[in-house]
Amino acid sequence: MSRHRLPPSDRADLTAAMRDIAAAGRAARTMLAVTDDAELSITVSQAPAPLTSQRPRALCHRPGRDGPLPPTAVWVGEGSQWETPFAVDRPVRRDSDLWPYIAGTVPGGAAGLASVTPLGAEQVAAAYLDWLIEQPALMITLIEELGGADLACDCPLPATGEHDHCHRSVLLAIAGDDEDI
Ligand SMILES: [Zn+2]
Repeated sequence: MSRHRLPPSDRADLTAAMRDIAAAGRAARTMLAVTDDAELSITVSQAPAPLTSQRPRALCHRPGRDGPLPPTAVWVGEGSQWETPFAVDRPVRRDSDLWPYIAGTVPGGAAGLASVTPLGAEQVAAAYLDWLIEQPALMITLIEELGGADLACDCPLPATGEHDHCHRSVLLAIAGDDEDI
C-alpha cells in the first residue's frame, strides 16, 4: 500500500468542500425545523445543540481534577471520538492501519522497519491530520459538532508564542474557518 501526504493546497480544498457539505446539512435542518411534519421534527431534534464560545480556543482540562468542563467546551481527549491514535511514545507497527500515516514522517519508516515511534509532537499532529482528512464522515461531524466550541484535552497548553501540537489544535483549525490547515 502506498499513500502520499496530501499537499497543503489539496488539504485546504478538501476541508473547504467538507465545510460546504456541513453548511448544506445545517441549511437543510433549518428548513426542516420550520415544517409541521412530526416525522421531520424528530430528525431536527437530533441535531447537535449549538455551542456559543465567542472565540473558540484550546483548553487544558484534567478529568477528575479540574471539575466540570465549561458549557462551551467539548472534550476531545482520550475516550472521545476525537482522540488521537498517535502518540510520541507509542510505536506504530508496520502491519498497523496507522503505518501509512507515520511511515513517511519518521526516519527509517519508509525503509519498512518493523515498527517506528513518532519522534515528536509535531509529527504526531501531522499524522493525526492526515488520518482525519481521509475520513469524510468524521470530518463533517467534526465541522458540525465542534464548530464554535472550545476544545479540551489534558495536554498542557503551549507557552505564549509557541505552537500547540496537541491534536485539539488540528480540530480547532478544521472546525473553525482557518484557511491554513
Ligand atoms: Zn492533547
